Amino acid sequence: MNITPIGIWGGYPNKNEATSSFLIEQDGFRCLVDCGSGVLAALQNYMKLSELDAVIITHYHPDHVADIGVLQHAAMVGMQLKEWETPLPIYAHNRDAAGFANLSYKGVTVGRELHVDTPVQLGPWEVSFCETVHPVYCLALRFTSNGKSAVFTADTAWKDELVEFSAGADFIAAESNLYEKYVGIIQGHMSGRQAGELAEQAGVKRMVLTHLPQYGDLEEILESAKNAYTGPLEFAQIGKTYNI
Ligand SMILES: [Zn+2]
Repeated sequence: MNITPIGIWGGYPNKNEATSSFLIEQDGFRCLVDCGSGVLAALQNYMKLSELDAVIITHYHPDHVADIGVLQHAAMVGMQLKEWETPLPIYAHNRDAAGFANLSYKGVTVGRELHVDTPVQLGPWEVSFCETVHPVYCLALRFTSNGKSAVFTADTAWKDELVEFSAGADFIAAESNLYEKYVGIIQGHMSGRQAGELAEQAGVKRMVLTHLPQYGDLEEILESAKNAYTGPLEFAQIGKTYNI
């Protein structure tokens, strides 16, 4: 599978960029992981929007769903022009009833419910879930196909269960929104050190850091992750394709 970071920011996008989102592709099937602010513009650097086969949403914070509305407009226009043929499925949990209802729009997009204990077959992947520690209900995702796995932590504070969930994965996109001094002060996110410890304890083969803060010296986060994780590690590079 190929994984392309579309955006790497938490909370809101830096100028001309997007919040944390990834494109995952295999066998011609394309799935967008989260669809926050700036994602729709950025995604078009890599593909036509009509080539999207599915979207999966981890939770309903704006930096993960802000561009769902404009994606629906794109699908609607595409269908009117006959360039977009089938309704786009958007997978997400339904613990936020209003948020989930907004995923279905005029027959051009359709919300599909996810449940934490029920893996789904999504294109070529089996996708499994783990509830994270975040102010709103949020699911980490594990995509598996042909014996290879990629984990997306989504937004979360440290949780022991994530180690088991990520065990042996070939790739992890780990959120690292916090500088170390904010651990225990800002809730619902991990520091670079914690992201590194997660990947190390889980024996993950490769890690990228995402959902980054717009303030401070990001090198501190990278260094603290490198002190905890012995595998290959970098900030998720926008537009780079990670093949696993
Ligand atoms: Zn969030």
